[in-house]
Amino acid sequence: MRVGVVGAGIGGLAVAAGLQRAGAEVTVFERAQPRSDEGSGLSLFGNGLAALDALGLRAARRDRGIVSSGESGGVIASGAAGQRAPDGRLLSRLPSSVAATVVVVHRSELRHLLLSAVAPGTVTTGDAVTGVDAAGRTVMVSGRSQEFDVVVAADGIRSRLRAGWPGDPGMRYSGYRAWRGVTAEPVDVGGVVGETVGRGMRFGIAPIDGGTRSGCVYWFAAISGPAVREPSSDDLGRFAGWHDPIPALLAATPPPDRQGLPIEELAGRVSSFRRGRCVLLGDAAHAMTPNLGQGGNQALEDAATLGVLLSGLGRVDGRGIDAALTAYDRLRRPRTQRVARQAALLGQVLQAAGPVSSRLRDAALRLAPERVVARQLLAVQRWSPPGPAPGL
Ligand SMILES: Cc1cc2nc3c(=O)[nH]c(=O)nc-3n(C[C@H](O)[C@H](O)[C@H](O)COP(=O)(O)OP(=O)(O)OC[C@H]3O[C@@H](n4cnc5c(N)ncnc54)[C@H](O)[C@@H]3O)c2cc1C
Repeated sequence: MRVGVVGAGIGGLAVAAGLQRAGAEVTVFERAQPRSDEGSGLSLFGNGLAALDALGLRAARRDRGIVSSGESGGVIASGAAGQRAPDGRLLSRLPSSVAATVVVVHRSELRHLLLSAVAPGTVTTGDAVTGVDAAGRTVMVSGRSQEFDVVVAADGIRSRLRAGWPGDPGMRYSGYRAWRGVTAEPVDVGGVVGETVGRGMRFGIAPIDGGTRSGCVYWFAAISGPAVREPSSDDLGRFAGWHDPIPALLAATPPPDRQGLPIEELAGRVSSFRRGRCVLLGDAAHAMTPNLGQGGNQALEDAATLGVLLSGLGRVDGRGIDAALTAYDRLRRPRTQRVARQAALLGQVLQAAGPVSSRLRDAALRLAPERVVARQLLAVQRWSPPGPAPGL
């Protein structure tokens, strides 16, 4: 079976690895030139790790130190982890059962893991795809057309391929912008990890757990306000009076390593992840706000699911391929759209900007029973790959 994948982000590389493992002949088209390190971090949760395992990457990720504390049997230090007020008061503790499921990686670490799992020559860079036909089999790329048995559109939130589908919801601005970065050197945060919530402002602290940047600290800041294309770095000055180690983390991150961006999401639900033989995957299918840290994890789930569903099907088995793509839409659409909705709602609460609404939010964080919070956060992560032929 010949598969064309559009985009070499987390989703595109993961699905290429999974499909090659399933016996497909895969070409990945990436419009950008090879990137150097993407300067930020990413939280992988139990579901994303399970998806990497389903893609055959369990041993490789463990070799790179991409292992949650629950898996490593290490001490789960969630004592000072949780949500805080800007003066440092702990409002709620991160349940240790949730802390055990997370690993924070530098994005380049995940990228290298996925790249090492695809055969050399699979990814062609500087190749922009401009469209796909209605049958979902012929892509237009750099002025020529190429035919495949399946096309995977993993071309991100501004997906060119999705834009050509009927009923594309397009994107919308969430109401807040973000800054993210990784300190140049390891920083001791004294166990102070998690998120600090102010009025229309948040700051997240997530030390990197494994790999070459272990001990460096991934941080992010979210600020409510009107949409701007390129946020001003003055934004970060507004965190100057916040508790330690926030000012120290900003000081330890050189300005070129800080990236500001508007937070966007799909403006509505895509009515199907499949059109003919083309399927949407990752942000192209379900771009969501980052409040649950699930966008990349869901892309990995998509990739593992498609890998299982298409495994063992040859190019002559057209009916089998069609049935697998229908099953992919059925399995992935409801789940990812539910997670996107939850992430958007959480963002509205956490970004509360008014004096009353932010006090109510803080009270809710203080009063929410730890076991209820744990149940909700673990429910988001509940996922396992489908069996070889679910419902085909
Ligand atoms: C502030 C922030 C924090 C986040 N934190 C987390 C987190 O902790 N955990 C988590 O799981 N997720 C997180 N996310 C979400 C996560 O980053 C995304 O969901 C994920 O990167 C999506 O991957 P993707 O492969 O679908 O898309 P992308 O990474 O956008 O990749 C798309 C690729 O397609 C290429 N492309 C686009 N158009 C074309 C074309 N026409 N032809 C060829 N190539 C094309 C692009 O160049 C790009 O390489 C966060 C997001 C933000 C903004």
